[in-house]
Amino acid sequence: MFESTVTYPASKESTLYRAGEGVFDTLPEIIEAENPSSVYFITDKIVDSFHSQRISKIGRSKAVSAKILTLPAGERTKNTRHLMGIANWLLDNGADRQSLIVAIGGGVITDLTGFAAATFMRGVRHILVPTTLLAQIDAAIGGKTGINLPSAKNSLGVIKQPVATFSDPVFLQTLKIANLREGLSELVKAALIGSKKLARLIDSIDPGDSDSILSVAPDLVETGMKIKVSVVRKDPLEQDYRRILNFGHTVGHAIESLLGYKKMTHGKAVAFGMLTALYLSRDILSLDDETVAWGETSISKLYSEFDLGGIDHSYTWNALKMDKKRLMGKPRFVLLRAFKEPEIVEVYQKQFQRAFMETAKKWKRR
Ligand code: NAD
Repeated sequence: MFESTVTYPASKESTLYRAGEGVFDTLPEIIEAENPSSVYFITDKIVDSFHSQRISKIGRSKAVSAKILTLPAGERTKNTRHLMGIANWLLDNGADRQSLIVAIGGGVITDLTGFAAATFMRGVRHILVPTTLLAQIDAAIGGKTGINLPSAKNSLGVIKQPVATFSDPVFLQTLKIANLREGLSELVKAALIGSKKLARLIDSIDPGDSDSILSVAPDLVETGMKIKVSVVRKDPLEQDYRRILNFGHTVGHAIESLLGYKKMTHGKAVAFGMLTALYLSRDILSLDDETVAWGETSISKLYSEFDLGGIDHSYTWNALKMDKKRLMGKPRFVLLRAFKEPEIVEVYQKQFQRAFMETAKKWKRR
């Protein structure tokens, strides 16, 4: 089991990170220690369909006696309607400023619940129990919360650290393989920016086989979680250093938005972005061939081809100029000088065009 308490001095918050088999059963311990006036669990229908007994057992236990809200599953739930729905449900069920909210679900539920907790009565405590690989190693760490507006993803949100994040591999057993791959794509990123140990773990699995992934899931989660925690604790408010987590995401987000968030999953778009970033790193920072090859091999095991649906480098470049992380209209990329040595670099259109076209050509659907 992995356990670490991280304090965030700027916001005077602290989070207990716990990961490993059986940690969900230790939830009452931390809830009791927080001594809330009332407890509210929020989950989604799919998580509930697989894990209702487990959730009810803890939620209905005497120590916790939570009320449980089950929302529809999927990205569309991360909207103002469900945010208001949660706030009204909390009010109707007697919540006050001393209440505690527990999110049990993937990144959609942890982002939405975190935002509801941050804004309900100007902020109540919350705990995250992420149930997807992506949420366990990424979304539930670092305090970013938020919802989507109709025209832009994650455009309304705040940073609020949870009291605790408890990641139990028992939840991962019921995930679809495509969903496990979404998490693996983020883990390839985490390895490239921060861990050879994680790279070796990724090498040891067959990403086409759920059992192979699940057999090392506790290690993957613990290592992935540690990397994100170590980055976030250095820069909790994303002022500078934390941007290294965006390796592959600059182009990934642009492609996702150009495809209307429908035709390509986030993990796949990030994988395309990582390939472009690897080629840019080789061209601009002389990244060694071995690292480029490791990235290509690891991504090829997850996604063998990319259908960009007619999107080319110039559309993508224009979308990049709208990215939240641009500086004076110039796109900035996280690139690698070497394995584990990320750097933020301003990129010129010609350089981008070359790397984008190389990616599109090498990884075209045949
Ligand atoms: P998700 O929450 O939609 O979960 C994916 C699907 O898996 C859903 O259908 C869900 O019902 C189902 N599911 C969840 N747990 C399950 C389980 N244990 N067994 C079976 N099915 C299960 O999406 P996600 O991939 O977990 O996360 C994506 C979201 O996370 C996006 O909204 C993204 O913006 C956000 N995110 C946030 C951060 C952050 O720092 N806050 C970081 C990365 C991603």
